[in-house]
Amino acid sequence: MQWETVIGLEVHVQLATRSKIFSGASTAFGAEPNTQACAVDLGLPGVLPVLNEAAVAMAVKFGLAIHAEIPEVSVFDRKNYFYPDLPKGYQTSQMYQPIVGAGEVEITLEDGTTKPIRVHHAHLEEDAGKSLHEDFHGMTGVDLNRAGTPLLEIVSEPDMRSAKEAAAYLKAIHSIVTYLGISDGNMAEGSMRCDVNVSVRPKGQEAFGTRAEIKNVNSFRFVERAIAFEVERQIELLEDGGKVVQETRLFDPERDETRSMRTKEEANDYRYFPCPDLLPVVLDKAYIDHLRDNLPELPAEKRARFENELGLSAYDASVLSATREMADYFEEVKDVCRDAKQAANWVQGELAGALNRENLSIANSPVSARQLGELVARVIDDTINGKAAKQVFQALWNGQGASADDIIEAQGLKQVTDTGAIEAMIDQVIADSPAQVAQYRDAEPDKRGKMIGYFVGQVMKASRGTANPQQVNELLRQKLDALC
Ligand code: ADP
Ligand code: MG
Repeated sequence: MQWETVIGLEVHVQLATRSKIFSGASTAFGAEPNTQACAVDLGLPGVLPVLNEAAVAMAVKFGLAIHAEIPEVSVFDRKNYFYPDLPKGYQTSQMYQPIVGAGEVEITLEDGTTKPIRVHHAHLEEDAGKSLHEDFHGMTGVDLNRAGTPLLEIVSEPDMRSAKEAAAYLKAIHSIVTYLGISDGNMAEGSMRCDVNVSVRPKGQEAFGTRAEIKNVNSFRFVERAIAFEVERQIELLEDGGKVVQETRLFDPERDETRSMRTKEEANDYRYFPCPDLLPVVLDKAYIDHLRDNLPELPAEKRARFENELGLSAYDASVLSATREMADYFEEVKDVCRDAKQAANWVQGELAGALNRENLSIANSPVSARQLGELVARVIDDTINGKAAKQVFQALWNGQGASADDIIEAQGLKQVTDTGAIEAMIDQVIADSPAQVAQYRDAEPDKRGKMIGYFVGQVMKASRGTANPQQVNELLRQKLDALC
């Protein structure tokens, strides 16, 4: 039997407001436990929440970026449950009238094909605190710094059909929110995490199978691994005549498996009702239009511009627009060297390779975009050849010079294009290699092309890599053939 995977994602994005969604307490990451929770975050008697307008604006910007409807009115509801990290006894969320309606996110797969994924809605809510299980000698501590941090929960339709599509969707959301500047998107710090809903169905069947929900997965890689495990588990279960039960599961990255957390029967009854402390949010058209008019260029638009105006391939355009840092870096290199294709090659080749080797992000690149652009310009204007360019790059990387020109000057890497100088080096190499010359002369003419490599190498060595390789090749061929 052929099975088809069905996936829907609920992505939680921590919004980059300075203060919390309903209070003035700071949202800064990494403070001492319980130093950034105020009476409102703790839900002490008598307090009243005040909605943070910055959170509203960020949510609306996201909605506009995915071409969603923005309803005029949205409403906050209380989701009631007990948990030690939730001192209020309820989470303020939006159940029935979310701030962002239906929209669409386009994903790009590795082979360059695209697919639209529908977003059901996105709503605002507050985060809870954190339980601390270490350092308490068998007891549990609670840090409420995170309580009240604004979250945007983005709920997709079950439109994804593979782990790769789910990861691509998460990457697309990540790139939209970081382009918009509404979240730092730092998954390691929990600024973006998702619940993964997975089911399988026989290929060709229209009705969805029963799903399991894997809670709080916090990396692109874990999303793929959790889905792979879960799909296999469900198929095995069904093929053995069993049934998938609707339940919440946890992914354990150490053991690479998901485990049951609670089943539907044990699920909470949240007793949602509109929060009496908060007025409905009413957005007028002028407010929304103002936000729309000030949206930055978004990943999809940038990708299209890179492809259509700069002439990059679909693949290059998609890689170079994946993050705002990457796109900005590439554009500066391009502006300095004035050649988009060469800029793309260097950013994705030499630079990406070096960053990967040292596990650095482009924001922490030791070579600035201006420095790389100037280096590429020297390749384009033939001041240096490709080999010397790599040397210059390495020197820039190691901080051995402030600019490509400084390094070219200091290390004498300027390309030798003077025919007389190259001929002199060739004559010397020929004089020093009688045996190889004899071999060349005795070889069949169609074998000689390969044998010339030895001489090219010797001449390049004699020039310390600075001779123009094309000229060396041409002149060598003329001189050697004259001897045959
Ligand atoms: P609930 O109301 O229980 O939260 P929703 O209908 O809102 O359920 O769906 C929650 C998430 O689960 C959505 O992202 C949705 O796309 C996804 N989903 C729903 N049904 C399935 C299914 N059969 N298989 C996979 N994902 C599903
Ligand atoms: Mg839900």
